[in-house]
Amino acid sequence: MRRPIRRRRTLSLAAAAAAAGLVVTATVAGVAQAGTRSGATAATCTPSQVVADGGFESATSPWTSSSGVITSGGGQSAHGGTGFAWLDGYGSTHTDTLSQALAVPAGCTTATLTVWLHVDTAETTTSTAYDTLTAKLGGTTLATYSNLNAGSGYVQRTFDVSSFIGQNATLAFTGSEDPGLQTSFVLDDIALTTSGDGGTTPPTTPPTTPPTTPPADSTRTPASPAYTVSLSSDTAGTTWTGHESVTFGNASATPLGDVYLRLWDNYHGSCPSTPITVTNVTGGTPSALSVGCTALDVTLPTPLQQGQSATVGFDLKIVVPSGADRFGHDGAFAFVGNALPVLAIRDASGWHLDPYTNNGESFYSLAADFHVTLDHPTNLLVPATGTSVDTPGASGRTVTTATATKVRDFAWAAGAFSKVSGTSPAGVKVNVYAVSGISAASSQSMLSTAESAIDAHAGRFGAYPYGEVDAVLDNNFWFGGMEYPGFVLDLVDSNALTHELGHQWFYGIVGDDEYNSPWLDEAFTDYATDLAEGKTGSGCWNSVSWQSSAERITNSMAYWDAHSSRYSTVVYGYGKCALHDLQRLIGDSAMSTLLRSYAQSHWYGVSTTAEFKAAAQAATTTDLTSFWTQHRIDG
Ligand SMILES: [Zn+2]
Repeated sequence: MRRPIRRRRTLSLAAAAAAAGLVVTATVAGVAQAGTRSGATAATCTPSQVVADGGFESATSPWTSSSGVITSGGGQSAHGGTGFAWLDGYGSTHTDTLSQALAVPAGCTTATLTVWLHVDTAETTTSTAYDTLTAKLGGTTLATYSNLNAGSGYVQRTFDVSSFIGQNATLAFTGSEDPGLQTSFVLDDIALTTSGDGGTTPPTTPPTTPPTTPPADSTRTPASPAYTVSLSSDTAGTTWTGHESVTFGNASATPLGDVYLRLWDNYHGSCPSTPITVTNVTGGTPSALSVGCTALDVTLPTPLQQGQSATVGFDLKIVVPSGADRFGHDGAFAFVGNALPVLAIRDASGWHLDPYTNNGESFYSLAADFHVTLDHPTNLLVPATGTSVDTPGASGRTVTTATATKVRDFAWAAGAFSKVSGTSPAGVKVNVYAVSGISAASSQSMLSTAESAIDAHAGRFGAYPYGEVDAVLDNNFWFGGMEYPGFVLDLVDSNALTHELGHQWFYGIVGDDEYNSPWLDEAFTDYATDLAEGKTGSGCWNSVSWQSSAERITNSMAYWDAHSSRYSTVVYGYGKCALHDLQRLIGDSAMSTLLRSYAQSHWYGVSTTAEFKAAAQAATTTDLTSFWTQHRIDG
């Protein structure tokens, strides 16, 4: 419990590369014309790099920029070092500029411009460039990017600018944002290098780049789900009936002929008798339930091609069983976690249809938008994922409308909770709901813990993006604590609460395949908890004792469900210790930068063990191969 309670998912491979620095180069502007090596002056080329402060680290920067562009915080992070250039990201009509006058020396045959670019956006279109970034050198437009280039990490862009050899030209970036949703163009580590012998060497092609492997996220589908849910409860708040629909796109080049809905809480029934009932499916043809009644395959009328979208809808009935559980009611207090059917993920390895594990690490979903209305008796408080607004319903009833963006799941509770609220110093609204029997002093203490913890995590990994978080307390929870986006269930236990709030970043903001890679959220969250509590894990590896050669920190839940007595010790305990050891090995500063950039690279995306390992290796000059081996971190 406390921490042992949630387990996570796997990884997929490809996206890691991009975030970590292996990356992909694209785009060679059509300006290559190497003939202009002006000044046949020298027979030799002295390679040089002509961009000053390309990493945006200098206090006396030679860059000219509009207000606020060169920065080191605010929710983005650097590719290297701490500074970077952030154009746009306002969500309103806005233009940002960044430029530097360059003198490209004569004497070499090749000039190559490289730029690390990260684009993230709140736009959901897959076809329209609403917000754009133009890169120019002199009068030549090198490239134009837009919200359509958004991705999870930095990508290196490379341009052959040999035609500028021997010339003066200004490198200029202009970011233009329309009145709607934000797009951020983040630039770092910009360099223009000249090379090649001026006298004899023929023009060379730009440096060879690694094979262009699409980020794995481009194959994770159905993409950008948007859920609309309307439910009404009985007087106890334990039976909910209504309708759910989900609109999604196909991000993959492989047509999408069907989708799977995960009805996770059917684990709590006796399949085929289930607490979650889906009927009257529209937008597709349902098959029989599978995977212990937790998966529902819906065949689409016609396969979705890449970039197309569709909507599936259904009537939904949820019957919350008795029990102080993630999905259960403890007397008059109902907890409704994992109850809304959510889309499974298909990626390069196919559909992920892993079973429910009671350790709480089955869940693997893409960030989604939720709009949920919950019609309930007015005497019941209904804490929920997202931001809620209550309006009067029918006589004696209230309609709670909760909206949440970029979250992987939606959970709520219902009961006559006592409630205390506060705001963290960084501005996050925190609500603590308690069942009867928990003292006001305990609630107040947990509120203080939550306010401190959410800010501590945010300071390390990036600002908490959801504005508000609810903690629901019940000392009868058998599982200790459980994380949902913007909503956690917990005992009165400050360590457990700090842990659950850490999951807002690891599992929530930075997603992972919990079933296949539980350590990616549990070890990271326990490590984050230690950091928030000022613990360094000094000497922790001295007490490590493996049960067998098959025991690895990175094992899946299939392994841990068969070796349950070792799950917490290895995944949480050894896992967080490995991260403490990594910090000791690469240094506090490098570790701090790594964690921040790793989180930023996968913000609202999905990470994998391979991606974390690549990011860590890129953060240090120490070869980490033996570190991963010793710490049994595979992947
Ligand atoms: Zn956890």
